[in-house]
Amino acid sequence: DQRKVARALLSVSDKTGLVDFARALAGHGVELVSTGGTRKALSEAGLAVKDISDLTHFPEMMDGRLKTLHPKVHGGLLAIRENPEHEAAMLAHDIRPIDLLVVNLYPFEATLAKGAPFEECVENIDIGGPAMIRAASKNHDDVAVVVDPSDYAAVIDEMAATGGATLIATRRRLAQKAFARTAAYDAAISNWLAEELGEAAPPVRAFGGKLSEPMRYGENPHQAAGFYLTGEARPGVATARQAQGKQLSYNNVNDTDAAFECVAEFDPGHAAVVIVKHANPCGAAEGATLEEAYLKALRCDPVSAFGGIVALNRKLDAAAAREIVKVFTEVIIAPEAEDEAMDIIAAKKNLRLLLTGGLPDPRARGVTFRSVAGGFLAQTRDNAVVDDMELKVVTKRAPTPHELADLKFAYRVVKHVKSNAIVYAKDLATVGIGAGQMSRVDSSRTAAHKAGEAARAAGLAESLAKGSVVASDAFFPFPDGLLAAAAAGASAVIQPGGSVNDKDVIAAADEQGLAMVFTGVRHFRH
Ligand code: 5GP
Repeated sequence: DQRKVARALLSVSDKTGLVDFARALAGHGVELVSTGGTRKALSEAGLAVKDISDLTHFPEMMDGRLKTLHPKVHGGLLAIRENPEHEAAMLAHDIRPIDLLVVNLYPFEATLAKGAPFEECVENIDIGGPAMIRAASKNHDDVAVVVDPSDYAAVIDEMAATGGATLIATRRRLAQKAFARTAAYDAAISNWLAEELGEAAPPVRAFGGKLSEPMRYGENPHQAAGFYLTGEARPGVATARQAQGKQLSYNNVNDTDAAFECVAEFDPGHAAVVIVKHANPCGAAEGATLEEAYLKALRCDPVSAFGGIVALNRKLDAAAAREIVKVFTEVIIAPEAEDEAMDIIAAKKNLRLLLTGGLPDPRARGVTFRSVAGGFLAQTRDNAVVDDMELKVVTKRAPTPHELADLKFAYRVVKHVKSNAIVYAKDLATVGIGAGQMSRVDSSRTAAHKAGEAARAAGLAESLAKGSVVASDAFFPFPDGLLAAAAAGASAVIQPGGSVNDKDVIAAADEQGLAMVFTGVRHFRH
């Protein structure tokens, strides 16, 4: 179903590609109508363009708040062609049809992102733009609407192929995109106001999600899946550049996110590596170099690291790359990579390398989602960082500086382990991780068992848990979990505290000669 484009209304804040697009439209004999700034840009480029007030006989006013909000504009967008009543109304009120609407909105999100003051954010709420976009989108049977400069080329190609018309399939696709844009725009404004008001329920950004790529399948082959982007400028798996390797799978994306968010917890002044399997860290370490950190992380659980995801907090270098490719690895994610490291990785064709350009801020605010039957849960992200917590020594013995460093290290990692989470750490490396058990004692035992396995794999007689420290993501409800950790060889404990049995747990720690600190902050992750 073709619709000839005779008149186009252009009103854009982002003028990228505007002049070339308008020139191509003019080449098809399209009459161009524009608002102030857009008209200026077009006429400076030598194009014949009408001012919107020639159409409305009404001036732009109130700092641009009123430009296009006029029945002559909205009538031209909304009128159903070949509908006698609509045609009669157009005739009676001298309303001319608009066949193509080209609008992109006041840069509200960018204004907010640059930290502009409240009033400036308010002034960057576009009113007329979304109104026109919604009108044209509703009437996509007759009107084409373009909200993204990256669609200019497709429209021009179609007009070239059809002798100056658009096709219904294209108009419908553009309308869908346009409604997504206005929905995301309003969501951004409402989220911002909610944050300003300090509202308890977190802002919901998911609705602005844009399909980045359909995936081969979901968690399992019989599940369909897609990867959606919210447009949040957070360095990570969603915004990374894939330098090489196979297409990412659903599980890859999920696991890579877990790995990179965890590695971002570490001070970039120290090299840090996290290896993730099934969304849980199976090894994490800091080191003088990435190579050292990787080898320390790998030692924690070399069996699970097979087929894992490796996240690094600095530029991937050749020495680390050489070690990583020795183990079958699904994905490597890092802020950047040296050329030599890229060459080493290139030998493994399928290995995916993601470069993020930076590290996300672990303290950044944000929202996470979880679907439930018939709805979804949203919560602000866990942006609590151990360095900001008030650590309270609750035992007779205080941790040594070495223990304290390991305790904080372990607490950074335990935040990213599924509950119940227990992490043994020694010398800034995990040595045993217990994840996802339904009882905390079982997680303690699993972690201790893993520390023994890791020692065996490394040919050591003594469990890696000997002389370690232990972190728990939530309080020990009874002394048993803590005693299991002591039996495994841990000398110090970090946990939130707050159990009704804290007194008993502290007494048990004192009896074992353990040093224990309370953080006051729980890190459940389910
Ligand atoms: P220009 O640079 O052409 O002066 O303005 C273009 C911008 O104005 C576009 O982002 C468009 O969405 C916006 N716009 C168009 N009409 C109106 C209106 O009536 N009110 C407001 N607030 N913005 C408008």
